[in-house]
Amino acid sequence: MEARWSELIAADQAHVWHPYGPMPAAVAPLPVVGAQGVRLQLADGREVIDGMASWWCAVHGYRHPVMDAAVSEQLGRMAHVMFGGLTHEGAITLAQRLVAMTPDGLEHAFFADSGSVSVEVAIKMALQAAMARDPGRTRLLTVRGGYHGDTFGAMAVCDPVGGMHHLFAGTLREHVFAPRPPDGFDAPLDEAWAAEVERLAERHAGELAAVIVEPVVQGAGGMRIHSPACVRFLRECCDRHGLLLILDEIATGFGRSGTLFAADHAGVTPDILCLGKALTGGYMTMAATLCTRAVADAITEHGGGALMHGPTFMANPLACAAALASTSLLLDGGWAADVARIERGLRAGLADACDIDGVREVRVQGAIGVVQLDHDVDVAAATAAALERGVWIRPFRDLVYVMPPYITGDDDLATVTGAVVAAARAG
Ligand SMILES: *Cc1c(COP(=O)(O)O)cnc(C)c1O
Repeated sequence: MEARWSELIAADQAHVWHPYGPMPAAVAPLPVVGAQGVRLQLADGREVIDGMASWWCAVHGYRHPVMDAAVSEQLGRMAHVMFGGLTHEGAITLAQRLVAMTPDGLEHAFFADSGSVSVEVAIKMALQAAMARDPGRTRLLTVRGGYHGDTFGAMAVCDPVGGMHHLFAGTLREHVFAPRPPDGFDAPLDEAWAAEVERLAERHAGELAAVIVEPVVQGAGGMRIHSPACVRFLRECCDRHGLLLILDEIATGFGRSGTLFAADHAGVTPDILCLGKALTGGYMTMAATLCTRAVADAITEHGGGALMHGPTFMANPLACAAALASTSLLLDGGWAADVARIERGLRAGLADACDIDGVREVRVQGAIGVVQLDHDVDVAAATAAALERGVWIRPFRDLVYVMPPYITGDDDLATVTGAVVAAARAG
């Protein structure tokens, strides 16, 4: 590694705060100097396959020529312009496209600057729409095991044990938590679970505005997979009790779970949908909250009139250009075949992990592969074992998992699964 990197790392340790960590970071982060295709170029000259797609985002890999060209071209026109009172073609076309791609019935798009903010906007939409009918409806119902972001509104609906509730006790709104949906994509609807959700919805109906969940795959809350039947049940339960259904597809959206949106497995249209992460193919921070005509009408006519949100960088034109290019690549390309191919590769490659001492379960859904241990992962040891095999992963809690870019070829995928197995053994 070049000498100046030891100074840069010292400066990083002195001044830069990294995610979910102390200051300075317990383990110095690895410097990255470039990326191409599915590979990250490290400052010491190593090239490693990114098994994380930069936290679910980089579905087309890095420096994709179509993505690069779209962003450069937009840069030649304008990098940014405020969205209050002004509009631009990228935002209009992107809204039209998201409305067309997502389940029927979602008509309007609000552009936010991160996934967490799109969840805040979704909650605001639900509260303002409920206000139209009944100002007493100010709580949400959700399930345990969820993750919806790190801002205060979003934190309050994250899993109350695995999330940050204990740290901010007293400052988070107390919502209603139903049990985690039972495991298993193919499992029939669990009657006991459904009865408990129904009981909670009924008991709290007068104070609830909406139900919020991640459909089919719970991401950072524990990487659990449940049946589309659970999502269909939640839709019906919301309809019975006059609640809005918010689906958070920030992690699952854009093909990751095997269908374009995880709601498509269930054939369900939510009232409000959150998108983020892969929306811009990992190029820029952007998220969107979509809603139905009925939600928009309720807010506009009786819910305060205006939706009270407006980020400075709302509908940033560079991000819109990246999102348009990324969604074009998905719609024109073979994402479905790629995700199915990666699913097969993950199932085959991770099968070995079942036999390792300390492995509790292996789960695969779409282009998501998870090895759950029976203890917390030794992150340093697991990461080192994967790096030795040329793969970047970032385990957490008791989970070693990957969600590679869709362009990952079969040989690289075999390297990724081999590295996960080695990491599970080491961690
Ligand atoms: C990542 C994530 C968020 C938060 O998105 P940020 O862009 O990190 O704010 C919310 N919900 C889900 C399901 C996520 O995976």
